[in-house]
Amino acid sequence: MDTFDVIVIGSGPGGYVCAIRCAQLGMKTALVEKYPTLGGTCLNVGCIPSKAWLDSSEKYADLVHHFQDHGIRADGITLDFGKMRQRVEKVVKEVGGGVNFLMKKNKITLHQGLASFKDPHTLKIAGKENREISGKYLVIATGSKPSTLPGVTLDKKRIISSTEALYLDQLPKTLLVVGGGVIGCELACVFNRLGTKVTIVEYADNLLVTMDRDIGLGLGKIFKKQGIDFHLNHAVSSVQVPDQKGPVIVVSSGVKTKESLELSADLCLVATGRRPYTEGLDLEKAGIKVNDRGRVVTGKDLRTSCPHIFAIGDVAPGPMLAHKASEEGVFVAELLAGQKPHLDYNLIPSVVYTHPEAASLGATEGQLLERNVAYSVGTFPIKALGRARASGESEGFVKVLASVPQDEILGVHMLGPRASDMIAEALTAMEFRASCEDVARSCHAHPTYSEALMEACLAACGSGALHL
Ligand code: FAD
Ligand code: NAD
Repeated sequence: MDTFDVIVIGSGPGGYVCAIRCAQLGMKTALVEKYPTLGGTCLNVGCIPSKAWLDSSEKYADLVHHFQDHGIRADGITLDFGKMRQRVEKVVKEVGGGVNFLMKKNKITLHQGLASFKDPHTLKIAGKENREISGKYLVIATGSKPSTLPGVTLDKKRIISSTEALYLDQLPKTLLVVGGGVIGCELACVFNRLGTKVTIVEYADNLLVTMDRDIGLGLGKIFKKQGIDFHLNHAVSSVQVPDQKGPVIVVSSGVKTKESLELSADLCLVATGRRPYTEGLDLEKAGIKVNDRGRVVTGKDLRTSCPHIFAIGDVAPGPMLAHKASEEGVFVAELLAGQKPHLDYNLIPSVVYTHPEAASLGATEGQLLERNVAYSVGTFPIKALGRARASGESEGFVKVLASVPQDEILGVHMLGPRASDMIAEALTAMEFRASCEDVARSCHAHPTYSEALMEACLAACGSGALHL
């Protein structure tokens, strides 16, 4: 039986990054993946294909709706949906090739097959060949799968999850999206831009309910202008296809009222969250506990109830984000190498790649109110920026929250063009515990969108924004 210093189960951004760092630090490392392709949810049915669709659909929508404002006319524009999908597949394949290359370069032993625990140090791998391998340390990075609502069955044809939505053969004329969270909003954007009539039904009273409230409110107004319909405060109770040739029927009832809705469409995308994936692992054979939500319980240093076995990424508690999974992977590797790594869950950015983009870091205003923290707020509208006027992208705002009287930045929330990249400046500032005045006194290039963060910091620290 082959033995390793570390065996990582699952090749998503948690697992493969953990394996690379372990190998870089001199450990004999194996990676087990049940599918023939590496990269997990993120690469195959998550971040990468969804961003490829978002970018392609944005280019199409710009050409159809926005370029004429810049004096660019194009007649006879047509959409080749099949070609667009082929490009998405090509992007996924290319990025997958990159992960394979990194495994070889770092001399990581790959095993393809489903891993299950035989005992706390031994894994059985059921694949083309059945084998057993053992490890001094093991890392569970088995990720998550789409979940659904009680009583709603995903038939994967008309009632679908994001996995199917990313690889449709045909563009639907109408689409109902259950859940106005991250997946619901991003994919609503994609399909709306390509010409599908999209309606979102959301249980909460706001879109993107986990972010600062102003983001969901702002995005809602913009979605309406873009032609995306949504019903808030509505709990979907049934999704059915009564007649295979007819539409999908979605029934919901008001959370605060007795109003009920019956909506119909070609397709229904259920985007009500994801569940941790531990099926087939036989965790009990290693004495590993899961919590009431099915996530592997981790304690200090991401150790499970069996101290030489760690859990990272979506299968472990915390936000289900690719960069959180990777951070945890690096943390475990460095810990095993005897280093003193550091993880700050308050400083994991959230980005939603809608149009405009939303990005968030640190505490929301709601959280500061709940915690009774004295704070100041500085908000700056994107439309007041010269760069925004020049490019014709003027929707959104940057909002900064700071402690009073210390002026330390506690949270940054953005809705606007390039927010996904702009949040990085806030991250660096908060990592170094900067004050609003620190950022406000840093010279920002003109004309850029990043001036909005400087202006919001000027507003939050009491100096007052210059361009308002
Ligand atoms: P996963 O990526 O789920 O990988 C787990 C791997 O383990 C899988 O390959 C699985 O096959 C394998 N596995 C499971 N069980 C076994 C077993 N017993 N034996 C062997 N192998 C096994 N996050 C972002 O940060 N940014 C985004 O833009 C973003 N977009 C997303 C878009 C969509 C549509 C979706 C669905 C998700 C998106 N996410 C995004 C979330 C992100 O994909 C996940 O947070 C991330 O993939 C989690 O990484 P992971 O390594 O924990 O698990
Ligand atoms: P989510 O938790 O973001 O949103 C689910 C939404 O469904 C919530 O707003 C919830 O109120 C709503 N909902 C639940 N039950 C409902 C009902 N009966 N009727 C109507 N609405 C209902 O989950 P998601 O959008 O499925 O995304 C799953 C995970 O994937 C998230 O944790 C997210 O972090 C990750 N993800 C991240 C990105 C990104 O970082 N850009 C992109 C996609 C997915």
